[in-house]
Amino acid sequence: RRLFYKGMLADTVEITGSDAHHLMHVMRAKAGQQIILVDDANQVARMEMTAFREDAVTLTLLERLEADTESPIDLILAQCLLKSDKMDMVVQKAVELGAVGVIPVRSQNCVVRYDAKKAAARQQRWQKIADEAAKQCGRTALLEVAPVTDIKSLLESENGQQDSVLVFFYENEDQQTVKDYLQKITVRRIVLLVGPEGGFSLEEAKAVEEAGGKSVTLGPRILRAETAALTAMSVVQYECGD
Ligand code: SAM
Repeated sequence: RRLFYKGMLADTVEITGSDAHHLMHVMRAKAGQQIILVDDANQVARMEMTAFREDAVTLTLLERLEADTESPIDLILAQCLLKSDKMDMVVQKAVELGAVGVIPVRSQNCVVRYDAKKAAARQQRWQKIADEAAKQCGRTALLEVAPVTDIKSLLESENGQQDSVLVFFYENEDQQTVKDYLQKITVRRIVLLVGPEGGFSLEEAKAVEEAGGKSVTLGPRILRAETAALTAMSVVQYECGD
């Protein structure tokens, strides 16, 4: 979440027009949430949204940030839901490893039960973890945690994405290594799909592959889901980003 501001950074900045509309009505931002602001002179700062009017959002300076720490690729982790502490850890590490988004995904073999009533609270909790991690590791963009989706909706929303690939980390893939695959691609946006503790069903694997997801292996051993997620993000940044 970065906002390019046509003006100069100050202790308080008022955002109006389409940017204010985007914050309020698309991102559904709330007071207390943070955003990274980049001004006309390329100064970067972490700001807090402190007040909302009908057509304007007030941002208050929290801290100025020095150098840009962002990777040249847009790395997004689509992670099937894991047990609470594991999911928290994966979100935190996704920030450290330079991802710009985490999409929590429901799938057939998830061990955790999905509770729709708690979904918004969990999303907010993960977002808070992500914002704290961004501060700790000096990110100059904030990772956005999406609402929980399912595999079918994920595949639909990925369909037709420009300059983008969906890399499918599949425990039953034994041919295509992630390294070989990554060396063949030159795209800006890379989405990694990693399974839950129970892995993917055959039906899900077929659907992902039919929708254009490229299945890859991380090697001959079955990794725990959280190990697979962290390894996947690390190798992608190593090969394609920084
Ligand atoms: N229950 C599954 C089984 O016994 O085959 C294992 C699932 S594994 C614990 C969880 C997820 O981590 C997988 O769905 C996959 O996304 C990823 N993963 C684990 N090991 C992998 C490997 N060697 N290559 C690619 N992905 C892997």
